[in-house]
Formats: sequence, C-alpha cells, structure tokens
Amino acid sequence: MPASTKPDAPGLSPELLARYAGPCPRYTSYPTADRFGPLEGDEPWAALQQVKTLSLYVHIPFCRSLCYFCACNKVITQQYGLASSYLENVLREAQWYRDRVARAPVVQLHLGGGTPTFLSDSDLQRLVSGLGEIFDLRPGEDVEYSVEADPRTLEPETLDTLRALGFNRLSLGIQDFNPGVQQAVNRVCTAEQVRELTERARERGFGSISYDLIYGLPGQDVASLEHTVDKVLELAPDRIALYHYAHLPHRFKAQRLIDSDLIPSPSAKIAMQLAATERLTDAGYQFLGMDHFARPDDSLALAAQEGRLARNFQGYTLMPADALVGLGASAISYSRDGYWQNQHSLKEYAAAIAERGEAICRGWQLNDDDRVRQWLIMELMCHLKVSKQALEARTGVPFAQYFRDDVARLRPMFDDGLLRDSATDLYVTERGRWFLRNAAAAFDAYLHGAASNATYSRVL
Ligand code: SF4
Repeated sequence: MPASTKPDAPGLSPELLARYAGPCPRYTSYPTADRFGPLEGDEPWAALQQVKTLSLYVHIPFCRSLCYFCACNKVITQQYGLASSYLENVLREAQWYRDRVARAPVVQLHLGGGTPTFLSDSDLQRLVSGLGEIFDLRPGEDVEYSVEADPRTLEPETLDTLRALGFNRLSLGIQDFNPGVQQAVNRVCTAEQVRELTERARERGFGSISYDLIYGLPGQDVASLEHTVDKVLELAPDRIALYHYAHLPHRFKAQRLIDSDLIPSPSAKIAMQLAATERLTDAGYQFLGMDHFARPDDSLALAAQEGRLARNFQGYTLMPADALVGLGASAISYSRDGYWQNQHSLKEYAAAIAERGEAICRGWQLNDDDRVRQWLIMELMCHLKVSKQALEARTGVPFAQYFRDDVARLRPMFDDGLLRDSATDLYVTERGRWFLRNAAAAFDAYLHGAASNATYSRVL
C-alpha cells in the first residue's frame, strides 16, 4: 500500500471512534519512556564506541511565556543568566562523552525545547563550536541540522546565524492562526510574522521549513482549523506536522489554565483531522505515518516512498543514526543496547553535572524480545506495514508463531477493516491509519500482562 495516498476514511462512526479513541502511547521509542527505570548491569552507552553514524539532540528548556497546552519540559523565565549557566552544563556534559563515543560523523543535530532560539546568537555559536570540539560535526546539505523556533520571538537575524552554523531545517510552532484559539492557549502570533520568517529562511537557504499545527485546542472547530490550513498553504512549508492536543491537566500543570469545556469532543476532533488532512492532500502534500505531511519533492516524502522513513523522539526522520546522544535536562539517548535519560529538573540536572559530569537517572537495556518488537512497531508506525519475511530474515523470529497472541488481540481491528493480514504482510488500511497507535500497541509486551498504571494521551 502506498504510504501517502489521499485519505479515504468512510465509516468512522461514533461507535468505532469510541472503541479506539482511548489512551495509547505514541511510540517514539520501544519500550516507551515511561517504562524506563534504574540501570543495572551493562551500560547501554558502552555501544557508542562502535557507532558509524551519530545523532545529537540538545534540549534548551527556556521560554519567555507559557503556552497553556504545553506538555514539554520547559522553564518560563525572563532571566537570561539561567540559560548561560545551563549552556555551561550542557557543554560539560558533552565532554563526558568525549572518550565514550567513536569519532563518527554526526548526520543529525537537533535543537529542541523549550525554545532553542531563547539562546542569544553568540551562545548558539558557543554551543555549536563546543559540540564541534567533541563530536564530528560536518555541516552540509547531506546531513540534517534542525532547530525548533517560536515565531513570536525569533529574530530574523538569528536565522542568518543559524544558517552560518550549518542549520538547514527550521521548524516553526504555529499551532493555530485563529485569534480566539490563540488567546485561549496564550500564544498569539500573526500569519505575517510567520510569513516574514519563512521568506527570510528561504532566502538564506534553509532547505526544509516545517510548521507544527495542533488540532483539538480549546475553541477550535472545523471551520477555524480549515482557515488556519488555508493560511499555511499560502506559505507552502515543505513539511507540516498535524498533532493531536492531548488534554491531561492532572499531569501537566499548564493545561489547568485551559477551560476544559472548550475542548472539542472526540468526534469534533476527528472531523477536524479529516478536514485538515483532506485540504493538505488536495493541495499535493503527501500524508506520512501518523501525523506528518510533506511536499512530494521534500526529502521526507521521498524517504517514505523509498521505505526509508524512521521514527525517533523528534517524530519522523529520514536519517536514523546508529545512536543518539541527548544532552540537557530530560534528554534521552539511545544505542543499539538501550536507552538512558537525564534528570528532568534543571536543579537536579545541574547538581548531577557538577558532581559527576553526566546526569543520567534512568534508562532501559534492550533484550532480544524488545529488539524484535521495536523493529516491528517502528515498521508499522513508519510504513503502515510489516513484511513477515523481512522480520524473519532480520530477527530469525517466525512471525505467525511468535506473534500469535498479539495478532489475536488485533481481531477487532481486522473486523473493523482497519488492518489486513496476508501471507506476506500485516498492513494498516487507509482508514486504519487513524488508529496506527492502537495497532502498534497490540505488540507492546509491557502494555499487556503486567499491570500498568501508565497514563498515555488519548488517540482522539
Ligand atoms: S509550547 Fe513551546 S514555546 Fe510554548 S511553553 Fe511550551 S515549549 Fe515553550
């Protein structure tokens, strides 16, 4: 099945939605990060000595004001001094990896947050040059240097600095252009601001510009979201991520500032998602994975067509490296042997770096079963299909016997026409794309069996 056809999603009845709209992980990793715990025995970072390619992620947690929907690890502050001392700690943490990671080319550098462009231009330069002393940074068009930015506070000149440092991908958080919705979430930004930054980024040679949109925000409806999508289409970004807003006020304090009565119902959310998807695909964007769209000539769309799409903590990507080193508070790293995560709070992160040069507080060592399921779940999330032969060739595991219980769990999805099973493949139908997370969850060994008190966001 092509990974990018126009959606045809008839029969999404309220009953069907009710069956599948409940809480479910997003599978940016397997096992999911809520399973991480104390690391005992072999350290997963030992495998960094053998990597041939590397990804780097740096978490910059500072923002100038609070968006009420936010579920990120961030610190709202007007004091720049906090960012300077944090940067010292990040560079100190990078030093810890100096003798622990092979000298491998960095094929992907991502600054996320928070708001990475909270950093001054000189501190952005200090960060990249400090990383370059330890890691093999080779900026160029064949690698991905990406940065998340807030269009409300991004200075146009900072785009020049970022480009000079090798950044070639820019991700702008738009969310919604409707003034009422913007006020309800305390994030007011005009389309004109976004237009100016987009044009400047293009002039400066950013090869890919991506916008983040969110549906399900307070006060949103189909018409307002369509209006936002139309404005976005005028600006023609290369990629668009259309995320579902997960309202979890018991977990995220900022969300308590949102009037829950204004949150659209699950059926209103699916109507929004369908309407936005139809507009984007009618305009020529290819639908990728669960929630991404890309122009057909964008490298992410090409990667999807060629079966090279991958998924990591930043979402869909085309440059999976052998390992990821995540720096900064709450950052997660991985190698072929497992995951490890840093202290979440700034205070604990700083104390750990001062004491021992790293801030690892929990993680996960992959066992053989984890590796098989990790591959299968990522195939489903990226390509909406699992080739049984490819799985067997890769892992030596016979699909039918090994996953008998998991496939039995999927019976309702087969019956509802969301999945199909053939002698060679298990695949998600176009209608089933809306419930990709549910299909992946059937193969999550930690979700079934042992009692779970995890709280995941709802599918809708
Ligand atoms: S949404 Fe982004 S800019 Fe807003 S508070 Fe969260 S991290 Fe900061």
